[in-house]
Amino acid sequence: MYYALKHPTGQKAYDYWLIKQAFLARKFYLGTYYLPSKKMYTPVFKRLGDADPEAFVEVTPLEVRRGYKMICIEGCGQCCERNSGAVIMKTEAEAMGIEIRNKPSEEVKLVDGTTETIYRLDTRKGGQCVFYNLRKKVCSLGKKKPTLCLISYCGAFAERNGKKFVKVSGKFLSNGRVEMVFEEVSKREWEEIVKMVRSGVNVWRAVAEILRRRNIGNK
Ligand code: SF4
Ligand code: SF4
Repeated sequence: MYYALKHPTGQKAYDYWLIKQAFLARKFYLGTYYLPSKKMYTPVFKRLGDADPEAFVEVTPLEVRRGYKMICIEGCGQCCERNSGAVIMKTEAEAMGIEIRNKPSEEVKLVDGTTETIYRLDTRKGGQCVFYNLRKKVCSLGKKKPTLCLISYCGAFAERNGKKFVKVSGKFLSNGRVEMVFEEVSKREWEEIVKMVRSGVNVWRAVAEILRRRNIGNK
């Protein structure tokens, strides 16, 4: 059995607790998936480690195999470059040996009764993250990037059974779940997408452009 992190609710006490549980299970992180069977867009873990099982729903290996695993295009950097919204908890920074020079932005009492100190990292111009290496277009923390960054994706690109997909639509359902539709792209289309994104084209524009070219080709 695998474990999918429950959806955030918009309540800080609960949502930061969820991130904390993801951190506690971090070494068993498999990837962030859209699971059509559960209509969940969520990080999935192979085991829970010290994390609280209450923060997860069980999913079968088959559900995961039938899911779409999110992909990040190396050299894109858009998540870190503009309005990153990146944050890290003090507990996590200490455990990972990450030195934070910012002042803490807030203290949040979590649903388990503990209190977490939260540091905002998106303090450069335009919301760029303090750990973003603009020249190399990479996170300077590498594998130590905050858990929230590790599990977060734009959701535009995915893979399944060795094939690449782009998201063509998505809508939130009343029960907090989400319905996402992906379309497969060819090797050539994928190469074009990667080229566009690396040259600075917004990921959604790149997806739209590929679909537009495909529609023209089909007429
Ligand atoms: S926008 Fe998508 S491809 Fe670009 S850095 Fe973020 S997750 Fe990766
Ligand atoms: S910590 Fe790293 S991955 Fe997260 S937003 Fe900053 S540069 Fe990007």
